[in-house]
Order: sequence, then C-alpha cells, then structure tokens
Amino acid sequence: MSSDTSPDTLFESVFDGAPVGIALLDPGGRFLRTNAALQTMLGYDDTALRPHRFADLTHPNDVEQHARLLRELLAGTRSSYEFATSCLRPDGRTVHAEVMGSMVRPGIVLVIVKDVTAEWEARDQLRRSREQLGIAIASIDMGFFEWDIVTDRMMWSEEMSRLAGVSSEPLIHPFGARFYLIHQDDVGMVLDNVHETLADRARRSFESEFRLVRPDGEERWVLAKAHIFRDQAGHPLRALGALFDVTHRRRLQEQFLHAQKLEAIGRFASFVAHDFNNALAVIVGQIDVLLLTQTVPAITRQALVEISEAAERAAHLTQQLLTFSRKGNDAPRVLDPNDTLARLAVFLRTLANPHQLSMTLTPDVGLIRIDERQLEQAVVNLVVNARDAMPDVGAIVIMTGRTSDGRVSIAVSDTGTGIDEEAMSRLFEPFFTTKPAGQGTGLGLAVVLAVTEHANGEVRVDSLPGRGTTFDLRFPQA
Ligand code: ADP
Ligand code: MG
Repeated sequence: MSSDTSPDTLFESVFDGAPVGIALLDPGGRFLRTNAALQTMLGYDDTALRPHRFADLTHPNDVEQHARLLRELLAGTRSSYEFATSCLRPDGRTVHAEVMGSMVRPGIVLVIVKDVTAEWEARDQLRRSREQLGIAIASIDMGFFEWDIVTDRMMWSEEMSRLAGVSSEPLIHPFGARFYLIHQDDVGMVLDNVHETLADRARRSFESEFRLVRPDGEERWVLAKAHIFRDQAGHPLRALGALFDVTHRRRLQEQFLHAQKLEAIGRFASFVAHDFNNALAVIVGQIDVLLLTQTVPAITRQALVEISEAAERAAHLTQQLLTFSRKGNDAPRVLDPNDTLARLAVFLRTLANPHQLSMTLTPDVGLIRIDERQLEQAVVNLVVNARDAMPDVGAIVIMTGRTSDGRVSIAVSDTGTGIDEEAMSRLFEPFFTTKPAGQGTGLGLAVVLAVTEHANGEVRVDSLPGRGTTFDLRFPQA
C-alpha cells in the first residue's frame, strides 16, 4: 500500500479498502465505480459490474422502489435514502443487503451496501423456531406468563388466555386480577403457595396444581410452574412461568384410583357373598328339616315358610354378586338364545307385570357360547330394570337378531324414563344405583356386563331421556 497521503490517493485507499461495499452510480443508476468489498459481496469484478444498473442485481420486487428513491434524490426532494433488498449472485447465492444512498455531487450518487445476510438468516431462523415453538405449545395445551413483581404487571401469552377460556385482551393486568378464574376451593392454597415461595429467599422455583373454572363453567386442572428471578438481596423481581393443562392426566389418575377401589370392594363383596351363601344354605336346609320332621302349629309353619323364602331371595342376591365376580361355577355351552328366551317367556311376563312384554325371536339367529344360567340372569336383570324405569304402564320388547357384522344380538327395549348423561357414564359400575336404598343394589348391570364380556360379547346402550332405552347384547357366533 502506498504511503502517499495526498487527498486523492488517500481517498482511493479508503474507497478500495473499506470493509463495506461502496459504489458510485450515474443518474440512471448504472455503476460508475465499485470497490473491492462490493465486488466480493456481489460476486462480480468491476468491469463485469459496470454495464449494469444496480437495480438489475436486486430482487425484482425492489426495483421500482430503488428507482423512485433515486429519482427523489436527483430531484432534490430527499437528501439520502435507506432500503433493504436482496441481491442475486452469479453463483446463485442470495445476499441480503442494507443500502444507503446519497448525492455526493450533482448527478453522482454514492451508495453504501452492507451485507446483512448473517443477521437476516439468524432472524429467519429465530422466526422459524418461534413458529415451531408456537405449534408445539399449541399442541400440548400450555401457556406462558410473566409477572413483574415490582410493578405488579402480569403478562399472559395468547395460549394462556385460550387455556383459561378468556379473550386474549387485556394481556397485561395486575397479579390478582384473574384470580376469579381459580376454583374457589383452590384459590387459598394457590395464594399461600405463592406467598410462601416469594418469602423464602432461597427459592427460585414455584409449582402448583389447581383447578381453573372458565367463564363458560368448564373446569380444567392446570399445573403452574415458574422460575423466580431475585436481586442480590434475594428480593423477588420477576416470575417467568408456564401453565400446563393436565386435565386429561388427572382424569386418568382418578379413574385409576376409582378402579382400584372398585376392585377392592369387588373382592370383599365376593368374599362376603361366599360365606353368606353358606350361611343361607344352612338356614334354608334347617327350616326344611323342621318342616319335614316336626308337627308345628299353622302360624309357626307359615312363619318358617316366609323365613325360608326370604333366605332364598337373599341367596339369589348373593348369587348375583358371585356371578359378577365370576366366582360362581360357570358352565358355558353352545346354545340357541331363542330357545333359552322361549323357555323363560312366562317367567319374564310375570316379572314385567303390569307392563306388556313381547318377544320377537328371529328364526335361525345363530348359536352362541355362554353359561345358560348367566344368560338368563342377564336378561332377567334387564327386564327388571326396564320395568323399574317405567312409572306409567309401558311396553318391553325382547328381540333377537343378527347384526350386519354377523353377531347374534339380544336386545331389551323399554319405553321408560331413559338414562341421563351422568348415569350413563357410571351405568355399569357395581353398586351404582339411582334407586332408593333398599330397592336398588346397583349390581344388575354390572352382572349383565360381566356375563356378556365373559362370553366375548359386547353391551350397547341406546337411550333417549323421556323416550326409553335399549340394551343390546351382541355375541360372536359359536
Ligand atoms: P339397580 O337396578 O339396582 O339400580 P342396575 O345396575 O341394574 O342397578 O342399574 C343401575 C342404574 O341404571 C339404575 O339405578 C337406573 O338408574 C339405571 N338404569 C338401568 N336400566 C335402566 C333402564 N332400562 N332405563 C333407565 N334407567 C336404567
Ligand atoms: Mg337393576
């Protein structure tokens, strides 16, 4: 490099050595001169650049804007301009550039071009990962919040508002402003939790699980987790956290606990039923012995007969418990359900009284493999339920048929009260009953389900509140 410091030579070396692209343009925007940095940036040497207008190298969308800015500069309505564009290099790469232009002499425009490709790509990458994060967040039901503790400004992300079922505005509010969304029974616990966490200078994390009640009444279980930022003295400054919707997980957990409880009750019930059955057998047997061997007054005889009958009824109930817990002796065999139902018809009509019971037994419906006593028990339970569901005199229909997928169906329909949503979700639970104490055992449908599933069948329920109900047992053909 020359050590000549005459103004011209100095200018030359500044122009050529500058770490930014520099060009002089004529009034038409053509390159008059370019420096080394610009040539490297655009991928052309000075001679190759010269016949071109700067605009020829920029993105077609920017050409018009560049021309207008040049015109305004030449007309003197502006003294300089700045704009961002992208240039295509001969090797196909794109250079993102920030361009500043100003008039250095009438008719000669100086442009300084800065390569911002790296920043642009970083921004693009950031935008993309924000988008991906947004999608991820939306798909896992999670929202963000930030609480400036010093000024008490709470900021909610849009997802957070969506999760809580409130409109996204205003996104900024004091900490307590949205507490009405927390379930009444949980709000005290959450507040205590927050205060404890903030008061303990060593603690940097907060975690709490509670219920939100959305304005539309829907309840959601959420898990809030936050990081607490503190100053050097340990005073809390800021909390940054996320809220997760854990409703689904909670429900599964509750169902699991419930199922475990039922299982324990089931075991206990079957244990009791077994011993109880033995005791009842002794009662019935001993009464029979008395009745056969003793001459007793008529009134005593009558009492003994009633005791015996009551014991039989109790035995029947324990039988249901045993069937349900499958501790009874089952003897599955291949049978035609039409035969079983036909034999049972008279008994079922008596049960149905005062309601009409009719049977439509489709011939050649197919054979199924099941313990016949259990099948009878299931049908009896359905008919009893149908009878109980009709406060006014109604109709019960038992129908056999073949489903489109070749299974054998036994359906019991009634014109009763129907089943509401709440009852529907718990219908088959053992001991679930809507009947007054002493009337319902809540075992009827549990037995129906156990029997049907034991024979590899499926129970379907179709019910219209106020119109009636159909229970449809579907078995594979044997
Ligand atoms: P229980 O008859 O002892 O109450 P079940 O297991 O047989 O026990 O039935 C459980 C509950 O399901 C009943 O209390 C009743 O609320 C409902 N239910 C069963 N069958 C019907 C029906 N056909 N129509 C309306 N509700 C019914
Ligand atoms: Mg019942």
